Formats: sequence, structure tokens, C-alpha cells
Amino acid sequence: MIVVVGSLNMDLVVRSPRLPKPGETLRGGPFATYPGGKGANQAVAAARLGAKTAIIGRVGADGFGQMLRIAAEVDGVNVEQVLDTPTMATGVSLITVEDGGQNTIVIASGANATLTPEDVEVAGSLIASARVVLLQLEVPLPAVIRAAELAREVGATVILNPAPAPAGRLPAKLLSMIDYLVPNESEAGAFLDEPSSAPPKGLARALAAVTGVPNAIITLGEAGAVMASPSGAIHQPAFRVQAVDSTAAGDAFVAGFAVALSEGLAPTKALRWGCAAGALAATRLGAQASLPRRDEVLALLRGEGPLKPVAKSQARSRRE
Ligand code: ADP
Repeated sequence: MIVVVGSLNMDLVVRSPRLPKPGETLRGGPFATYPGGKGANQAVAAARLGAKTAIIGRVGADGFGQMLRIAAEVDGVNVEQVLDTPTMATGVSLITVEDGGQNTIVIASGANATLTPEDVEVAGSLIASARVVLLQLEVPLPAVIRAAELAREVGATVILNPAPAPAGRLPAKLLSMIDYLVPNESEAGAFLDEPSSAPPKGLARALAAVTGVPNAIITLGEAGAVMASPSGAIHQPAFRVQAVDSTAAGDAFVAGFAVALSEGLAPTKALRWGCAAGALAATRLGAQASLPRRDEVLALLRGEGPLKPVAKSQARSRRE
């Protein structure tokens, strides 16, 4: 089983002719809500890729909270340990997209910010049956640290996707419990004291050296991903697809990598799984709507193609 300890957010997306200036009111629309949050996205991605998956997190006792639970559950994620925080609103991302495609995003973490180490302990029996525990940085660090501790105690593999990029240094205690650190390029930069011009493999080696995490993976968008491990550094090129929207490609990558590891595949094979899942997510619009299914990843891994971009409506009907 894969256990995600992380965030659940409702994304509130409005189109606008342009981005508003301070104090300005614009007429925009259409408006839509989409289930999101890195924790929920990665949990849904793992479940779609065929893994038994659970998420531990918090939502408000409100409509968005209910909707997020249901959305994850529909995809097969165990949401028993998504707890209610009655005093806080469910986490939201307020997203304005202007017609040219630029956006502004304000995240109100709401109930996500109330996840405690005790909440994670209450869900200890879930973690006890986990092969892989998947962590991000959209919930408070003490909860993330407790999750890593419980995972280590039961011998589960711990993956940290350090997103959003941490403002300061992560506690050494947390880093010492991580098996795989998986940032994208800009998040990787947050760990290095100076901007580095090293080629990607060198960056991954530097990341492993600076953090002490044995395996550092950096995702590189259409350039694929690199992994530095004690046995050496490798580059996995991206699968060639017609990309239309890279939203959630990173979440799909992390989930694909985790699912493959949980099935006992070697890390180099898991890296291919991650890249296949990320590439497929990039061929479709949206976050959770773009996350691929297991059969699609297997087909891409077998080299079946050619891939054509799939419109969102088709993507939805294909999943039904
Ligand atoms: P993030 O979304 O976190 O910035 P990336 O953009 O690095 O993450 O994407 C994660 C992974 O998804 C990459 O390592 C790559 O394998 C795959 N991917 C992303 N964009 C593309 C693309 N345009 N073509 C093929 N694969 C892609």
C-alpha cells in the first residue's frame, strides 16, 4: 500500500480577460472548481496507477471538504483518515487565468495547516501496512516528520517531494529519514547555496551530497529526469509526447515512481514509470483530470504509440 500524508485543496479557477490590477474589479468567467492539493493529486495518481492507496490529511467541515473526500474516494483512495477541522475552512487555491494563459494563484491552506503529529499517529495502522510513504510540504513539518518516523519504524520507503520549495533549510532530522528526495529543477535549486551551472546529473549528485539523502531525483520537464544514488547517476530521457499542459506532471511522476517501487521494481525501472506517468499527464489539460491510468502507462512503457494529445472531454470519457 501507498500512504500519502499531505494536502487536499479545492482549486477555484476563473478565466479573466487579463489579470486585475490592485483595487480593480474585472468581469470574468467561466468559473470552475477542481479537486487538487499535492497530497490528493499524488494519492489519486497512485490509485489510478493501480496501487492500494490511502491519504492522511485534514479538510474543513464544509462542502469543499466533502467534495474532496468524495473525489478521492471515487478514484479508489482510502479517505478514512481525512479528518475534519471544524474551526477552519477547507484549503483552497484561488486561481485567475488570463486569456493569454498567464495566471496568478493564492493558496489558503486552511485545514491543511492544522494537521498534527498526533493525527498521523492516530493513522499509524495505515502507515504500518505501507510499503511506500509519500510526503510533500503543503502540511506542517511536524506532521511530515512524524509520518517519516512511523514509516521508518515499519521499514516503509520514504519519498519526499519537497514542494512547494521550502523557504529555509529542512530539518536534518527529516532529511535523515528520507530514502528518495524528488524535486523539480526550481525546487532543487532551493537546496543549493548558490545557483549551479552543473549539468543535471551533477545537480542530482550535489543535491544528494548537500542533503545526505541517499537517492536524489530531479525532474526536468521535457528533458526527463536524473537520479543520483550511491551506485551512480543516471539520466532517463522523457517519453516523446505532444504536451499541452504540464500541470500535475510532477505529481504523476512522483506517484508513478512510488507505485513502481511499491511493486518491487528497481529504482531505474521506477524512474521510467515516473517519466511515463508524467509524460501522459502533460498530454492533457488539468490536474487530477490529466492523471493517467495504469494501462496507459504500461502501453507507453511498451513503446506503443504514437501518442496524440487527448482533449479533456475525451480523457474523461476514456476513464469511464
Ligand atoms: P513539475 O510539474 O513538478 O514541474 P516536471 O515538469 O519536471 O515537474 O515534470 C515531471 C515529469 O513529467 C518529468 O520528469 C517528465 O518525465 C514528465 N514530463 C513533463 N513534461 C513533459 C513533456 N513536455 N514531455 C514529456 N514528458 C514530460
